[in-house]
Amino acid sequence: MNLLEYKGKELFESCGIPTPKSVVLTAHKQGEDVIARGGLNMPVVVKVQVQSGGRGKAGGVRFANTEAEAQEMAKVMLSSDLKGLPVYHVMVAERIEIQKEFYLSIALDRMQKCPVVIFSLDGGVEIEQVAKSTPDRVAKVFLDPSLGLREYHARYLADCAGLEPSLFSEFKEILEKLYRVFTDYGCMLAEINPMVVDANNCLVALDAKVVMDDAVYRHMGELESYRREMHAYEGALQREAQEFGFLYIPVESDGDIAVLSNGSGMLMSCIDMISKSGQKVKAAMDLGGGAKAEKVKEAIRILMDTGGLRGVFVYIFGGITRCDEIARGLKAGWQECGRETALIVHMEGTNKQQGVKLVHGISGDAALVEHPEEGVAELLKRKK
Ligand code: GDP
Ligand code: MN
Repeated sequence: MNLLEYKGKELFESCGIPTPKSVVLTAHKQGEDVIARGGLNMPVVVKVQVQSGGRGKAGGVRFANTEAEAQEMAKVMLSSDLKGLPVYHVMVAERIEIQKEFYLSIALDRMQKCPVVIFSLDGGVEIEQVAKSTPDRVAKVFLDPSLGLREYHARYLADCAGLEPSLFSEFKEILEKLYRVFTDYGCMLAEINPMVVDANNCLVALDAKVVMDDAVYRHMGELESYRREMHAYEGALQREAQEFGFLYIPVESDGDIAVLSNGSGMLMSCIDMISKSGQKVKAAMDLGGGAKAEKVKEAIRILMDTGGLRGVFVYIFGGITRCDEIARGLKAGWQECGRETALIVHMEGTNKQQGVKLVHGISGDAALVEHPEEGVAELLKRKK
């Protein structure tokens, strides 16, 4: 689960990480009085809440000098998209006078199998860019989870990054609190970018990015409301798929292949195989078990609604799912919205023969393959 900034900020506050005072406006609650009752000092910063970085550059972070101005900005933001994402919340926060912008994060490093702390005095911008152009400006330390975070880690980071000694104790405190957020809530990422030095030489977290591992069930009761609210942020296709009991997963926005399968393991293997061949998957759909033709047809329609697809790769292992049901659904779906797109089908298991016959009857650019590798090759062939 990817928390929006204002939820991440709540979490930071509850753990004692200093953040600017703020209120949240929604479509139902966007009045000037909300800002006034929040007791915010002017000027303020008005921030779109969407699950994407780079809001600043995209016009989603703006300054206002009065309550009325902030309210007007929020109103406009709530009625438009940012980077193609719907806006349901806008945060209005006291504007901090910034002296310097730093970057601080704790992430799970999959290769090292432990948390990694990343700290840089060049914050505010994308850290990947800093790491690329000036790697020596980024300090990094891996943590042994059984030892946790120690003072020498903080010292090492501060020294490497070149932090002013007068800011060290505050930095250390924030880092310790961030580590508590990271471990207590089963995070994959807890990031503050920027962490700023304000006019009083204090460190403040101006942004919050928190990604929690859904497989970790600590605090789940407490986080259930977050989950419900974050749900509204999922795309229309994800929600539609859910209504049919399917799982729709956006993969790479610049991909042009969709994968349809029954079972998440198989789905992942297909994505791996296609990616390995140098092609990109844009969306994947897991049908789960026992999908009937009528529903499969809907699955095809939802997948095709993704747009920009040149191929759909179908990989079915028939157990309780019957190959003929799948094939009938594919055929119906294809008649409705397949058209120019390539359809590559591999099926195995229950009622395979009937299924194969039906797939042969699909008009358009459809191919049935005996081996999945063959299917990937077929997709490549059609690209040329
Ligand atoms: P992001 O672009 O989505 O990462 O959104 P941020 O919350 O990080 O804001 C982007 C940038 O806006 C920051 O790096 C700051 O430079 C600026 N900004 C955000 N809040 C404030 C503020 O209170 N005061 C000032 N002066 N700048 C701010
Ligand atoms: Mn940021």
